[in-house]
Amino acid sequence: MISRGRRFSAARAYVHPVKSRRNLDVRYRVLVTKIDFEGTRATGVTYRGTNGAEHRVRAAEVILCGGAFNSPQVLQLSGVGDADQLKALDIAPVQHLPGVGANLEDHLAVQLQHACTQPISMLGTKSKLDWPRIGLQWLVGRRGDGATNLFEAGGFIRSTDEAQYPDVMVVLAPFARQFDPDKQVEGPGYLMCVDTLVTEGRGTVKIASTDPTAYPKIQFNYLESERDRRDWATALRIGRAILDQPAFREFDGREVVPGPEIQTDEELVDWVARTGQTGLHPTSTCRMGDGEMAVVDPMSMRVHGIDGLRVVDGSVFPSCTNASTYSPVMMVAEKSADVILGNTTRASASILRRRLTSALRRLRRRPDLDGAHPVGGAAVRGGLLRPHGELLGTALAANASHHRERHGQDGPLDQQHDAELDDDDLDEAPGVHVLRGDQRHQTERHQQEQGGQQLAQRARRLLFLEYLVQKALARADENLCHDERDCGTEREHEHVTADVTVHGT
Ligand SMILES: Cc1cc2nc3c(=O)[nH]c(=O)nc-3n(C[C@H](O)[C@H](O)[C@H](O)COP(=O)(O)OP(=O)(O)OC[C@H]3O[C@@H](n4cnc5c(N)ncnc54)[C@H](O)[C@@H]3O)c2cc1C
Repeated sequence: MISRGRRFSAARAYVHPVKSRRNLDVRYRVLVTKIDFEGTRATGVTYRGTNGAEHRVRAAEVILCGGAFNSPQVLQLSGVGDADQLKALDIAPVQHLPGVGANLEDHLAVQLQHACTQPISMLGTKSKLDWPRIGLQWLVGRRGDGATNLFEAGGFIRSTDEAQYPDVMVVLAPFARQFDPDKQVEGPGYLMCVDTLVTEGRGTVKIASTDPTAYPKIQFNYLESERDRRDWATALRIGRAILDQPAFREFDGREVVPGPEIQTDEELVDWVARTGQTGLHPTSTCRMGDGEMAVVDPMSMRVHGIDGLRVVDGSVFPSCTNASTYSPVMMVAEKSADVILGNTTRASASILRRRLTSALRRLRRRPDLDGAHPVGGAAVRGGLLRPHGELLGTALAANASHHRERHGQDGPLDQQHDAELDDDDLDEAPGVHVLRGDQRHQTERHQQEQGGQQLAQRARRLLFLEYLVQKALARADENLCHDERDCGTEREHEHVTADVTVHGT
C-alpha cells in the first residue's frame, strides 16, 4: 500500500508504532538458523548475528513467520519435515510432517508490451540521469514518478462463464522495460502484466544442505497440467483483447511482446514457458488443515505434533488466493493474533464495545457540538445513545430528502417512529438527516433559519456516526448472545481452554 507517496509496509504499520515497548526486542539483520527442541517441544531459536556469532533465545513459544520459502526451510533445518528427506541430509527428525515444503503454489506472470505512439509513458524512470530529479521530487513533496508503484490500474476477470471466481488478474503500467530476452520496446511503451490465478501445478521447497545460508531448492511446476496450459492461452487472448480496445487506439504503436507472430495456443504457451516469471505470490508450503499433508492446525496455528511452535505467514494458506497475497497475509496474521491471544468472537465484541463507547464519550465532549447543530448536539449529548444493549428507542433516519425520493413526501419515515431504517436506506444515504418525525421538522426549520449548511452537515455527520456506533454495539450484542447460546464447536472451546492455560502459566 502507498500512503502519502510512501510504501506503508507491515513493519511500519505494526512494529514501528510499538517498538519502544519494554517487552519488545526487535533484532535486525539476523538469520534464524534453527528452532531448538526438547523432544517435541520448541524451546527457543538459534540465530546468527551480523558478525556470524550464534545466539540462542529461550522461549515458552515460538511463532515462525519466515514466509513461504523460509518457514519450511527453517522447519526442515530443525528436523520438522519429511523424515526420509531429513535423514538423507543427516538431520534427526523431530516430527515427520511430509507437508513441510510441499504444495507450493504461486501465480505465474507474463507481460504483454506495446509501443506507445505518444511520449507520455514513464520512460524517464529508465534513464539513470533522471533518477536524481525523481528522488528530489519525492523527498521534497512525496510526489512524482517516485511516489507511484507504477502499476496503477488493473482488474480481475472470469475467463469463462463457468469460472465461479475471477481466475485472471491484469495490471497495467505506463512503461515497458525488457521482459522478453528476444525483443524489446524501443522508446515509449506500456505493458499489461497477466497472471493466471487458479492453477493445478503444485511445487516444492526442499533444503539441499544443512547450511542455513544455502538456498533451498524451489520447484514450482508451473504449466504442469493440461488445464493450466489451456488457461494460459485463454488469459493471453483476454489480455490482448483488452489492449485492443478503442480507448488505447490513440496511444497504440503495436504489440511488441510477445509480438503478432505468436498466435496459436501452442505458440502462446511456449512463449509463457520461455518468458514467464514468478508473480511473487508463493504460498501453502506449511498449509493449514487436517490430514497427512497438513502442517498447521487452523484452529490454533500450532504445528501438528509439536508443542510451543506456531506458523503464521503466507505458507499456511490452504491454497493460494485468487488475488495478490499481501492483504490475505495480513488477514491471516490479524486472525492468528486473536487466536493466539484467546480473543474469541466474544472477546472481540467486548473490545469493540469498549472502543466504541470511548469514541462516543469523546464525541459527546466536543465543545463545538451544540454550536454545530443545537438539535443534533442536544440529541447526541442528551443520551440518545444509551448504554450498550438498548437499541435506540427513536427512529434513526437516513437523509430525509433521499428517503422522500424513495418513498414519497409522506413515506414511511413519519410512520416508523421507533423503527430502524432498513439497510438499503442506509447504504444509499449520503448522511443521516433527521432523528424522528418531530425532530425532523425542528431540524429542518433550524437549518433554514441558520442557513448554516456547513454546520448542519457536521451535525448530520455526528448523528450518522452515532447511528453506526449504536448499530455496531447492537451487532456486538447479537454476537455475544449468539456466542453464549450456541456459538463455537467443541473443538473451538478445547483450543480456547488450551490457550488460556498456556497464557495463564
Ligand atoms: C518484490 C515483491 C513484490 C510484491 N508485490 C506485491 C503486491 O504488489 N501486492 C501483493 O499483494 N503482494 C505482493 N507481493 C507478495 C507479498 O509481499 C507476500 O505475499 C507477503 O509479503 C508474504 O508475507 P509473509 O509474511 O508470508 O512473508 P514475507 O513478507 O516474506 O516475510 C518473511 C520475513 O521473514 C524474514 N526471514 C525469513 N527467514 C528468516 C530467517 N531464517 N531468519 C530471520 N528472518 C527471516 C524475511 O526477511 C522476511 O522479512 C510481492 C512480493 C515481492 C517479493
